Amino acid sequence: MRFLLDDMDFIFPYDKMYPEQYAYVSDLKRSLDAHGHCVLEMPSGTGKTVSLLSLIVAYQYHERKMGRPERKLIYCSRTVPEIEKALAELKRLMAYRRDVYNIDDGDFLGIGLSSRKNLCIHPSVRQEKKGKAVDARCRDMTNSVAKAKWEADPESIELCSFHENLNELDQDHLVPYGVHTIDDVKRYGEEHGICPYFAIRRMFMHASVIIYSFHYLLDPKVAEQVSKHMSKDSIVVFDEAHNIDNVCIESLSIDLTRPMLDNAARSVEKLTQTIEEMKAKDASTLEDEYRRLVEGLHGGQEGNDDRPEDEDFMANPVLPSELLQEAIPGNIRRAEHFTAFLARFVEYLKHLKDITFIERKPLKFCAERLSSLVRTLQLTRIDEYAALQKVAAFATLVATYHEGFRLLLEPFETDNATVPNPVFHLVCLDASLAIAPVFERFSSVVITSGTLSPLDMYPKMLRFDATVLESYVMTLTRDCFLPLVVTRGSDQVEISSRFEVRNDPAVVRNFGTLLVEYCKAVPDGVVAFFPSYLYMESIVSAWNEMGILNEVLKHKLIFIETPDAIETSVALENYRRACDNGRGACLLSVARGKVSEGIDFDHNYGRAVIMFGIPYQYTESRILKARLEYLRDTYRIRENDFLTFDAMRHAAQCVGRVLRGKTDYGLMVFADKRFAKQDKRNKLPKWIGQYIKESDTNLATDVAIAHSKRFLRMMAQPFEQSSKSLWGIDEILDKQRGLDPDRSHDHGDEVEERRGQLAEIEMDDAFNEISDEALMQAMNVDVEMQAAPPVAAH
Ligand code: SF4
Repeated sequence: MRFLLDDMDFIFPYDKMYPEQYAYVSDLKRSLDAHGHCVLEMPSGTGKTVSLLSLIVAYQYHERKMGRPERKLIYCSRTVPEIEKALAELKRLMAYRRDVYNIDDGDFLGIGLSSRKNLCIHPSVRQEKKGKAVDARCRDMTNSVAKAKWEADPESIELCSFHENLNELDQDHLVPYGVHTIDDVKRYGEEHGICPYFAIRRMFMHASVIIYSFHYLLDPKVAEQVSKHMSKDSIVVFDEAHNIDNVCIESLSIDLTRPMLDNAARSVEKLTQTIEEMKAKDASTLEDEYRRLVEGLHGGQEGNDDRPEDEDFMANPVLPSELLQEAIPGNIRRAEHFTAFLARFVEYLKHLKDITFIERKPLKFCAERLSSLVRTLQLTRIDEYAALQKVAAFATLVATYHEGFRLLLEPFETDNATVPNPVFHLVCLDASLAIAPVFERFSSVVITSGTLSPLDMYPKMLRFDATVLESYVMTLTRDCFLPLVVTRGSDQVEISSRFEVRNDPAVVRNFGTLLVEYCKAVPDGVVAFFPSYLYMESIVSAWNEMGILNEVLKHKLIFIETPDAIETSVALENYRRACDNGRGACLLSVARGKVSEGIDFDHNYGRAVIMFGIPYQYTESRILKARLEYLRDTYRIRENDFLTFDAMRHAAQCVGRVLRGKTDYGLMVFADKRFAKQDKRNKLPKWIGQYIKESDTNLATDVAIAHSKRFLRMMAQPFEQSSKSLWGIDEILDKQRGLDPDRSHDHGDEVEERRGQLAEIEMDDAFNEISDEALMQAMNVDVEMQAAPPVAAH
């Protein structure tokens, strides 16, 4: 469909649109017009990605027509499948624009970047199992030192021919215009003998849409390298951003263990040896480095631009720009002095002796000084220096930031460990530090997800002002999901995962009965979430003793998520197979786990989700305590507010898995008496909260089952989406005119009027030649509208 959004020609690749999609694109446009940031919470399964891409592509086209510079889209998603999905959606959109409306998007390029592990086509390197090994082998075959060696003696070293072939091509056209999924670009690389990874990286500056993971913008060690060519006007989108504060914090936190420190100490020795060898062979290289360092970290070069593309591994963590202009302190300029300093620092970390004297200033420069040394010594297999690089980054962060970080020494590596293995945590407490460069650098940043409530938390925690802050409700023809709050078992004993009662046999039994009853009543898939692995383990073993698992097994097969990703994938695969077989299955998983964060349980794969307890974080953790203190003192966010916000966003993520579109249906069961409290429910996304009936907020198991059965019977009836929840062009035009889109339409007179409206768009020549038939089709006139099926693709 095609219509005007303000004065912009907007094309949406389906014949119909959800009202919330219309509201979403309108708000997004408002925010882009204002060059501001926004936080948009869109219900699950209502086509957020397609709305976002359609709006931004239309916006870019409009800006071009107005003669303004293009605003690139940098779209960040969390996982590779999500990146592929977004690229496929973009591809479909561009094909639709071209095929249906004859729009010439000319030199439009849409690409996605993933790691070398996913993009490498080198026959032996791609066989490596670990991403780090692929990176290391690739770097050894592509760095400038290797190239110089090869030029001196081609037999001495192997270069990657796919990388070399790139240099033979026109650097502005390494891949053709269009949209390329990761698979497409790999295929293209294989056909043309070029490296897909470097082809994509070099084409960044020509791309209109770039899709990659959060890490490329938030991890300061790679953000500068990957995003240096993006202009301020670029539009940055963080999709599925409900956890963005944690991603920011993780990207600046470093853990050091004893084996790492031992490894770092060995690396220092190796460096010292190499320096001695180089001194004996060619002292001038080290002298050159010394002279360069006197002029500043980048040897007098402006910024980072002249760094070769392979050096992201040794890139430094966040350093304020003024520091980069300073001269390296005299006592670490000489290579041997620097390694001696590093050795002393590693020793200090190992033993934490008070008497060790370490100055702050050289510490600050450690990470950058190390990358300079690695370059000077022309080292290969630099992945072997990973531990030392971590120590150097640790040193730099400790010395650079006075606030927002905390050093914690834990005697045990994990909560369950019994053998002491001390871990040094450098914990970043302030999520805004990692994302600050993004807000400084780009004028429009979009934070979007299905679960962002309460919305004002994100601008507070990430320190930015939002132009638009919106949460959309879900318009439904029929109430296709039913949220229920179960507070008691059928025996009237209250249920809760609160610490004091969570292991009470009556509570455990009531949780078990709830699961048994749902497995009995619900056809197909039932997914249950627990607050943690530990709790799930204890409850499952208690259920086993109580005979509850056997009861469940009479109705459904049981699968369990574990911390092991491979085991969980196998369990998921078998769970789906059991659902497809018709018998149905039950999956036991945990909030914050892999299943809760990216797996959809649409249609028969999930007809009921049960959230056992509230997924609060473990509050005795020293890291969490430090963060809570920091949030309270710096942002005035009270501990309880943050903990409840965090628990509810994860609970909403879990229950949201059950509904992946308006043609889908499912039950959302919140099993904990605390969910009945208003302060908890207020923190659920509006689109879920809106459908919680007061009468469903304090149920016993038997009553909840009775409600659920009634709901499932209702859902089994055939239905058609009405114009309340699915708009055609008429409803959209009504909305724009300020009329009620839900009224009945007499479309006969309106075709001409709409033709007039569309003619006002400054269309390109191709569109002016469009036939009447195509126009009628494009405008989605009434004949089609009556017969149009629901938009299943959403
Ligand atoms: S240059 Fe490309 S193809 Fe060659 S090893 Fe590296 S990632 Fe693989």
